[in-house]
Amino acid sequence: MKPDQMYERLVEMIRGYNPQADFDKVQRAYVFAKIAHEGQKRATGEPYIIHPLATAMTLAEMRLPTTIIAAGLLHDVPEDTARTVEDVEKEFGPDVAKLCEGITKVGKIKYRGIDRYIENLRKMFLAMAEDVRVVIIKFADRLHNLETLEGIPPKKQYRVALESLEIYAPIANRLGMGEIRGRLEDAAFKYVYPKEYEWTKKNVETSTRQRHGYLDKVMGLTRKALLDADLKDYDVHGRAKHLYSTYRKLLKNNRNIARIYDLMALRIIVPSVGDCYAALGIVHGHWTPLKGRIKDYMAQPKPNGYRSLHTTVFCEDGEIVEFQIRTHEMHQAAEYGIAAHWAYSETKRNKVKDISTNIDWVSQLADIQQELSDKKAYLDSLEELKIDVFRDRIFVFTPKGDVIDLPEDSTPVDLAYKVHTDIGNTCTSAKVNDDVVSLDQPLKSGDIVEIITDKNRKGPNPDWLKYVKTHGAKSKIRQYARAGIAAWIKGVIPGLKK
Ligand code: MN
Repeated sequence: MKPDQMYERLVEMIRGYNPQADFDKVQRAYVFAKIAHEGQKRATGEPYIIHPLATAMTLAEMRLPTTIIAAGLLHDVPEDTARTVEDVEKEFGPDVAKLCEGITKVGKIKYRGIDRYIENLRKMFLAMAEDVRVVIIKFADRLHNLETLEGIPPKKQYRVALESLEIYAPIANRLGMGEIRGRLEDAAFKYVYPKEYEWTKKNVETSTRQRHGYLDKVMGLTRKALLDADLKDYDVHGRAKHLYSTYRKLLKNNRNIARIYDLMALRIIVPSVGDCYAALGIVHGHWTPLKGRIKDYMAQPKPNGYRSLHTTVFCEDGEIVEFQIRTHEMHQAAEYGIAAHWAYSETKRNKVKDISTNIDWVSQLADIQQELSDKKAYLDSLEELKIDVFRDRIFVFTPKGDVIDLPEDSTPVDLAYKVHTDIGNTCTSAKVNDDVVSLDQPLKSGDIVEIITDKNRKGPNPDWLKYVKTHGAKSKIRQYARAGIAAWIKGVIPGLKK
């Protein structure tokens, strides 16, 4: 597509979700970027402006406001052209300029090897803590770069792809951006594991081809059942699983593709939460659900905010099919996660309150950043930080019903420190769903956990370090140990001051 055609398409996309958008700003941003990048070419030989346009289109897919779209169009201007952040600010105001500056900062990486990896990770964490919108634009930027890797040398291809797989995709996942994560992974997969990519692709294609007619039939039956039950405005469609996540699932299942039930899941999208449960009832009325495979992520959303009903049923001819049921709004949120908080919605503006509750851990990241100002400390804590952010999350309840989210395999000690340092320092055991358990027992999603403390306890046991998972718990336990040694030295050597 030619740049002007892409621009027209972009405007159409925005008009689709917000007819009242500030189209003048979008046009000015396009013209500004086009002039600034005049004469520059991509490695693929295309005019450079194609890249900011593609970035902006991905942002428009997420239904984002024009400030973010404009920043997407302008994101490479300060870095790669004669125009500066100040020029952008003069023309588009401080918010757009700040976003451009943030993206430029994330992009500037000077090291190589492991240092490069660390610097990269650190910059992403920092950007996330400062303004999540920067990271969202960065994903759109990276996605287009990944999709146009052909033009660059193989070594750089591999590096960019690996970085996307190891840093960008897990962060996208953590931010609930399932669709973006899947696209980042699939685009990178090809370059990082080419053989496995081909193998997975071939297998999935064969399997999907074989099941195509079957699923069409099931979709037809589902539509009819919903219609008969007077459910209105529903949408039933098939959803192909992303390749990289399929590959990982295959590895877990001895590479046996027949055992992956959700290779092709069916999705039912309905207007309201009530309709979701009604639809679930209709599906179960037709086909018997598999035991233990009904998941209500509406009553108990995943820690990354994901909401949906899942069920796997013995379908026509005894075949196994997974259904995912959700509202339009939940669907948008499931695909684009945190970006959906800024997304324009015709029915209502998303409440700011939702944002703050969901990105609690993002602000905690900012604290950790501050704490770890020197490189050595950062390196030492890197693994813990990665666990805190990248590992799958579980959510547990306090006896009062508060939801606390933690990395998978966290223990009562992790929870205790997450609630309060004093509770961590004085905990002795825990009750999980009313059973007393030891402090090293891994918690599971949905557990109700009560921490039992003893005021007289002198402080944490250094042995806890062997099983706690979170950076917070580890650093508090170490801190206490260090303070203890310092006090002890002072006690033994009375003359020693300071
Ligand atoms: Mn770029």
